[in-house]
Amino acid sequence: MLVLEYKAKGNKAQYQAIEEAIKTTQFVRNKCLRYWMNSPKEDNINNAAISRYSTVLRADFPFVAALNSMAVQAAAERAWLAISRFYDNCKKNKPGKKGYPRFQRLGRSVEYKTSGWSLHPTKRRITFSDKKWIGTLKLMGKWDIHTYPIKSIKRVRIVRRADGFYVQFCVDVECKEDVPSTGQEIGLDFGLEHFYTDSNGHHEPNPRLLRKAEKQVKHAQRRIYKKQKGKNGRKKARNRYARKHLKISRQRTEHAKLKARHVMRSNDLCVYENLQVKNMVRNHHLAKSINDAGWRQFRSYLEYFAQKYGKVALAVEPHYTSQQCPDCGTIVKKSLSTRTHTCKCGCVLQRDYAAAINILRKGKEKIATSGQGGSKTSKQKSRNARGVETSIQLGAILVEQVSTLILESHGFS
Ligand SMILES: [Zn+2]
Repeated sequence: MLVLEYKAKGNKAQYQAIEEAIKTTQFVRNKCLRYWMNSPKEDNINNAAISRYSTVLRADFPFVAALNSMAVQAAAERAWLAISRFYDNCKKNKPGKKGYPRFQRLGRSVEYKTSGWSLHPTKRRITFSDKKWIGTLKLMGKWDIHTYPIKSIKRVRIVRRADGFYVQFCVDVECKEDVPSTGQEIGLDFGLEHFYTDSNGHHEPNPRLLRKAEKQVKHAQRRIYKKQKGKNGRKKARNRYARKHLKISRQRTEHAKLKARHVMRSNDLCVYENLQVKNMVRNHHLAKSINDAGWRQFRSYLEYFAQKYGKVALAVEPHYTSQQCPDCGTIVKKSLSTRTHTCKCGCVLQRDYAAAINILRKGKEKIATSGQGGSKTSKQKSRNARGVETSIQLGAILVEQVSTLILESHGFS
């Protein structure tokens, strides 16, 4: 799946119509959720029941009927996605909160499937033809959606952001590129000091620029509260804050993408730790650095590019990777503040460098023990680890994961 994104250009009335469609989407989602909550348990409300209910809504509310029928279906699917995720968490007995579905107050997108819209045959324009009267929007962006067969466009979303509306096309293509094998392998250790340290001893610095930008965001945030509530000045300040925020998140994404792309281009195998970022963020001291570095995002880009280039990206459990001696295998206990690995065998290495070597070795062991041609199976695995799961979700709905999948929209391919 590939997501192409354009900025949408229209007039005021059209933007209002988009808002109207977004509101309807949210209405349908929330109504479906309410229906599920209010139904007795023995009714066993499932996806099909919710879908049927959405057609009832169409009959009851003219403004729902005005939205394209498949878009209404997509909105109902959003409710079901939230419900099924909750069920899944309960079934797996996930520790902590189970994520009981909540009502949405600030919906920011409307999603069409394969009907209700058409593309201009030559110009970059899209026309929405349902009774929300969005009409024809200009698509600003260098992508050429026309190069893809219409049939491969599975979803079209309109998303509201701080700086305007965007149209996203979800295209079903196998985006693959032949990148020559380099025979190189690499292990990565994610640290606080550096963005990552690799098994060749290279330290990739943290993107400090982001830290600076973050200060500006904080400043913009404070300015909101200085303005009087309900006044125009406050609204403006809030928008300024949202724009700054958007800019940072884009920069962070660019950084993660750039680095991941480079790593997967120059290596055939990349091994990294299976970090549970979620658990680590609980520690408030670490929180800032961890969020900042955006490892999770970096990791999903590694996996994406591995798939794209036909390389192998592999996660291993991080146990002992920072304690073991890469030369002789002895466990050398050290606290987080000890930055150098010093072993009786004479091996002296920077701590993260030693860890990265261990991580690479662990990955190679994993491949060797997984049998049948090793790397092929792990390639398969890494594909499953990301590709399949994501695309199934994409098939169901675009909402959550699109942020990580907008890989092609800002200039790398
Ligand atoms: Zn040693």
